[in-house]
Amino acid sequence: MKHIGLIGSGFASLSAACFLAKAGFNVTVFEKNASPGGRAQKLEINEFTFDMGPSWYWMPDVFERFFASFEKSVSDYYTLTRLDPSYGVKFRESFHDIPASLAHLEEEFESIEAGSAKKLRQFLRQAEFKYKVGIRDLAHKPGKSLHEFLDFRLLTGILKMDVFTSMRKHVNKYFKDPRLRQLVKFPILFLGGTPNNTPALYSLMNYADMSLGTWYPQGGMYRVVEAMVRLARELGVKIRLNEEVTGFEYRHGKITHINTSGGQFEIDVLVAGADYHFVDQVLLDEEYRHYTPRYWKKQTMAPSSLLFYIGTKTRVPKLNHHTLFFDRDFDQHASEIYETPQWPSAPLLYVSATSKTDPSIAPEGKENLVILMPVAPDLPDPEETRMIYFNSIMDRLEKFTGTDIRNNIEVMRSYAHSNFKSDYHSYRGNAYGLANTLRQTAILKPSIKNKKLKNLYYTGQLTVPGPGVPPSLISGEVVAREVSGDYA
Ligand SMILES: Cc1cc2nc3c(=O)[nH]c(=O)nc-3n(C[C@H](O)[C@H](O)[C@H](O)COP(=O)(O)OP(=O)(O)OC[C@H]3O[C@@H](n4cnc5c(N)ncnc54)[C@H](O)[C@@H]3O)c2cc1C
Repeated sequence: MKHIGLIGSGFASLSAACFLAKAGFNVTVFEKNASPGGRAQKLEINEFTFDMGPSWYWMPDVFERFFASFEKSVSDYYTLTRLDPSYGVKFRESFHDIPASLAHLEEEFESIEAGSAKKLRQFLRQAEFKYKVGIRDLAHKPGKSLHEFLDFRLLTGILKMDVFTSMRKHVNKYFKDPRLRQLVKFPILFLGGTPNNTPALYSLMNYADMSLGTWYPQGGMYRVVEAMVRLARELGVKIRLNEEVTGFEYRHGKITHINTSGGQFEIDVLVAGADYHFVDQVLLDEEYRHYTPRYWKKQTMAPSSLLFYIGTKTRVPKLNHHTLFFDRDFDQHASEIYETPQWPSAPLLYVSATSKTDPSIAPEGKENLVILMPVAPDLPDPEETRMIYFNSIMDRLEKFTGTDIRNNIEVMRSYAHSNFKSDYHSYRGNAYGLANTLRQTAILKPSIKNKKLKNLYYTGQLTVPGPGVPPSLISGEVVAREVSGDYA
C-alpha cells in the first residue's frame, strides 16, 4: 500500500486525507500544532469558547457533498442551524438586519432604494448560474492547463461568468444606493480582494450569502474540524500532532523521506497543506523550489487581521450573531490594505457574538465576542499598536451597544500578524491565503503540483480553488483526485 505524507491538518489537508484514505492509500498527517484544524483553532478560556478563525458557515451544500462522498451526512456529526437574521449591518446612519428569507430581503432592499427588489432578483439569478458552474464545476478543476476549461458548457457560459468585468462595475450596474452597493460587495472581503480587482464571477458569493444562507454548527465552527478528524480516523488516517515537518530527503527527482521533529518517515507521495510559500521557499531545498522569491513578492496576499477574543461579564445588547460595521469608508480601508499598506485610519469591522444563539459557548449572562479588523499583511503588530485599535474599537462598540464593555471584560486575547506567522508559518502574516484577483485565478494560482519533484503536490488556500473553508474542502478533494490518478 502506498504511503502518503500530508503536511498540516487544516481543512484542505483533512479533506485530502479522507479522500486519499478512501482511495486505498496509507495516509499520515503531520501537524506542528497541538490540535488539528489549522486556522480554525478553538480557544477555551475559563468557560468561554472562541472560534479563532472562520465563523461564517456558507455553502452548506459543499459540506454536505463532502460528507456524502463517504456515505455520511453533516447531521451524523453536528447540528446546523440557519441564522435568521443572517447578520446585521451598521452603516453610518442606519442599522439593517439581513433577513434569511429572500422575500423579506427584497422588502429591505426596496425600503432603501425603490426598484431594487426587482434588480436583486435579476442579480441573484445571474449569481446562481455562476455559483452552479463556479463551485460545482470550475472549482473542481486542478488548474493545470487551459484545456480543462474548454468544454462546451463552460464556453457557452463563459460570458455569463463575468470573468473580465470587475465586481465594482457589475454591482454598480444594478444598485445605486451606496449602502446596497456596499452590502452586495461585502462578501468579496472574504476573498481578500477589492471590488476593483475581483472579477464579477465572484458575485456567486452573493448567491451563497443571500440565497443559500448563513448557517451555524451548534458548538461552533470547531465542530466541523472535529467531524472531519473523526471521519479521517474512521477511514484509517493517522494524525500526528505536535510534529513539525522540517525538511525532506530526495532521490531521482522524488521526495523519499519527510524529516520531522519526531523522526524520519519514508513516503511515496507528499501532499503539502501547510502555507504554500513556506513549503516552497523554506522547507524545500533551493533546487526543487517551484517559484522564485520574486514571484512570491509579486503575489497579492489576502489581508491579515487584528483579532480580539473577549469574554464579558455581562450581556452586550444590540449585537447579532454576526454584525458588520460598515460605518466607515470602504474604499479608504481597502486602499490602506492593498495600495498603500498601513494600519488603517478608519477601519471597517466585523464582530461575532456566537453566544447570541449558542448558550453552550459562554457562561450564562455573559457574552463571547470575536472582533476582526482586516489589515494589510506584513505590518509590525506590537502590543501598543494593538491596544490603540482596541481602545478605538471599544469606543465605537460601547457607543453602538450603549454598554460599558471595557470595564466588564473577564477574559481577552489579541491576535495578529506575528501570531499567524508563528502558529501557521503564514506568509507575510496573511490570514486567509492569496487574494482571488483575476491574475490569481484558476491556472494562474500557485500550481497544485511541483514541476521539479514528481511526487510533491499542494493543497490549501494558496492554491486552487482559493481561500475559505468550502474551497479548502474542494482543494483537498481535487488534489486527492490528482494523486489517485497518478498513483492508483
Ligand atoms: C481570522 C479568520 C477568519 C476567517 N473567516 C472565515 C469564514 O468566516 N468562513 C470561511 O469559509 N473561511 C474563513 N477563513 C478562511 C479559512 O479559515 C481558511 O481558508 C482555511 O481554514 C484554510 O485552510 P487550509 O487547510 O488551507 O490551511 P490552514 O488552516 O492554514 O492549515 C495549514 C496547517 O499546516 C500546519 N503547518 C504549517 N507548517 C507546518 C509544518 N512545517 N509541519 C507541520 N504542520 C505545519 C499549520 O499549523 C496548519 O495547521 C478565515 C480565516 C481566518 C484566519
